[in-house]
Amino acid sequence: MAKRPLREYKADMHIHSCLSPCGDWDMSPRRIIQKSLEVGLDLIAICDHNTAENAAAAMREGRKKGIHVLPGMEVCSREEVHILALFGELSQALEMQSYVYANLPGENKPKVFGCQVVANENDEVLGENPRLLIGATRLGLHDIVVKTHLLGGLSFCCHVDRPAYGIINQLGFIPADLDLDGVEVSSHVNLAQAQATVSGIEKFACITNSDAHFIEDIGKVWTVFRMAAPTIEEIRKSILNQDGRRILV
Ligand SMILES: [Zn+2]
Ligand SMILES: [Zn+2]
Repeated sequence: MAKRPLREYKADMHIHSCLSPCGDWDMSPRRIIQKSLEVGLDLIAICDHNTAENAAAAMREGRKKGIHVLPGMEVCSREEVHILALFGELSQALEMQSYVYANLPGENKPKVFGCQVVANENDEVLGENPRLLIGATRLGLHDIVVKTHLLGGLSFCCHVDRPAYGIINQLGFIPADLDLDGVEVSSHVNLAQAQATVSGIEKFACITNSDAHFIEDIGKVWTVFRMAAPTIEEIRKSILNQDGRRILV
């Protein structure tokens, strides 16, 4: 069988939807896909706080409109560190969600934290999530990374250059036995700059994402992957610089 040629994929793999209490009402699955296409992204991931309930709608809309959507979530550990968990299959993300929900105490107060809207790809509201999605789970960092890997996903420490919920600020270092696939730097610094200045991330693959909570922030920054297909396996190979796959900085 002929090898698939390598090409560049412009990816923003940390986008919140209206299901995150801090995500704008306009961040419906349909609008996210529309904006992602407008700004020329090839690959996105929907990563709400501690939930993946809007991922399916975005994946369906993405398939219809021709953009690749990975299901994921931004899990808050008990150390108050944000970890991005990315999956290839919806079923894997939903299994992660069950694990997270079983370890997520509290109820949302919409007037304090914001609404948590579950929507379909036609902009119809299906309901509100009652959980305290913005809260910290009872899961330790290692639990989250191990479970993500067991399910076949990839895990990245989020916005490592930032004080709020970034691992370096929270712990002072990245534990040597934390089996991360890489780290994410925020839109506040460029990737090359961060690699040179944020101490402790030197040995990790670095990606950058918008962490968009508002439509206009989608694709504000992105990571370019040189790979054969927009899949978790190909992203993994890019991280490991295998078979010509790589992250372009
Ligand atoms: Zn975060
Ligand atoms: Zn986020």
